[in-house]
Amino acid sequence: MMVLHDLELILESKIVPTPPVVMLRVMEVQRNSDAGLRDLVEAVSLDPGLTTKIIAMANSPVYRRDRDATTLARAVGQVGQRSVVTLALAHSIASGVPKSGTVGGVDLAEFWRRSLITGVASRELAGLVAPELREEAFFVGLIAGLGRLALADCLAERYEAIVAKSDGWPTSQVEREGVGISSIKVTAELLRRWHLPELFSGALDAADGLELEDEQQLMLSNLVGVAVTMSSFFSSDPDGFAYREMIKQIGALGVQPGDIDPILDALQENILEMSSQINLDATAINNMEILHAAREQLIELTLAADVELRSEKQRREQLELDNLELEQRALRDGLTNLPNRRAFDEQYDQQLRLRLRSPETFGKPMGIVMIDLDHFKAVNDNYGHQTGDEVLRQVAQVLEMASRTEETVARYGGEEFVMLAPMATLEELTRAAERLRKAVALVEVELPNDEYLEVTASFGVAIMDAPSALEAGERLLGAADSALYKAKEAGRNCVVAVPEPVS
Ligand code: GH3
Ligand code: MG
Ligand code: MG
Repeated sequence: MMVLHDLELILESKIVPTPPVVMLRVMEVQRNSDAGLRDLVEAVSLDPGLTTKIIAMANSPVYRRDRDATTLARAVGQVGQRSVVTLALAHSIASGVPKSGTVGGVDLAEFWRRSLITGVASRELAGLVAPELREEAFFVGLIAGLGRLALADCLAERYEAIVAKSDGWPTSQVEREGVGISSIKVTAELLRRWHLPELFSGALDAADGLELEDEQQLMLSNLVGVAVTMSSFFSSDPDGFAYREMIKQIGALGVQPGDIDPILDALQENILEMSSQINLDATAINNMEILHAAREQLIELTLAADVELRSEKQRREQLELDNLELEQRALRDGLTNLPNRRAFDEQYDQQLRLRLRSPETFGKPMGIVMIDLDHFKAVNDNYGHQTGDEVLRQVAQVLEMASRTEETVARYGGEEFVMLAPMATLEELTRAAERLRKAVALVEVELPNDEYLEVTASFGVAIMDAPSALEAGERLLGAADSALYKAKEAGRNCVVAVPEPVS
């Protein structure tokens, strides 16, 4: 039997991402039926990476309307609320989990391949028997396996042993016998811990064999169950066991055998593409690109979802969104297209308030990294203001790319940037700053004479545990700023962190 203490440890596994703030916010918005589109847009805008994806998605052929979606507000209107929520959840979870290598014997590329297949298959099946659950089915299918990673990470040797005994992919039964709990049960507990709707965790409980009465949970559970079998069928099925099982389960779901062909075709196509994108030779392509490919893949998949029909209600909402669009435009910096100071201040304030309201949900400290370009005045003096502007644009781009989904980089002032990390320990944040520092040092701006200009920046890092009051935000900024000052004094192009959390 698995003791409670072990389960606690497994749920704390570092390999599974701490739920990013944006995800919790999006779910909060969904739970609260009074909350409207405005809240959804606000929640998503906490995440610049996701914002960009949704805007791109709205401008893709599937969703494109009579005019371009240039802002988040318009994009959300075009793509539809449910797709946005699913994408936000999938994106925020997937972006935090590594995509290659092995953990506790589990091959991560294989893991993701199976997860993607399960997500797509769940959604396609839902389209046949429970269209209202399509988006939920995609999400649960995609993340159903997360518990496997947590188990493999925490019980590394024990898990590796059962992986070795079962051709690389232990079933729930094998897991229960070998380590005392099934990975699907671990996923259910993870989702509970993140306060996601009981619909999801209940469905996974049912997949783990628990008897449930809720019809939606049961349906979702059955859909994901069949999808998991389908993913086995597509991954490795030498003796045809998964194929027979799949046909049986599909029948039990009430799907006609004839209806399944188009699904298999669609999957086959997607999977070929997936394999080429995810099973890339790790030496030929660096991790960042693999991550990128996996993220792109997620969007492709969501793109394939049907366009939501525009109802009268949606048209009314569009009016509201048009107004929001104007507000959103005022939140970007014209030169770098990063969130501007005002946007940062608002977001920071929002984060502080979230923490003051529910400190238990936001257990980890939040942090600030202050970033200031080194000897930037000399760049302007020696190469002109236009070159200076180009440097700012490129540095901004690099900072944005090198930061994580849940971290926000904004232009704080002239040649100063700031990064807000809603959940990070001092070690994590110092490492993140170091990553940014290296990324900036790699920037080469082409000069008119075919030479290249290199730039560096100095970084100040500070974190704060639970804030006692809104004013603590000022102290945190001040601490990061004084660390930045020390980094300048220490010779620039370096990271200095304030050792103790600000209170
Ligand atoms: P340090 O390493 O100590 O930070 O030196 P520094 O030269 O970077 O610092 P200083 O504060 O003396 O100079 C900042 C310069 O940044 C001066 C200002 O003209 C330039 N700057 C601020 N905003 C912009 C901008 O939008 N475009 C350009 N081209 N330059 C800018
Ligand atoms: Mg400065
Ligand atoms: Mg400077």
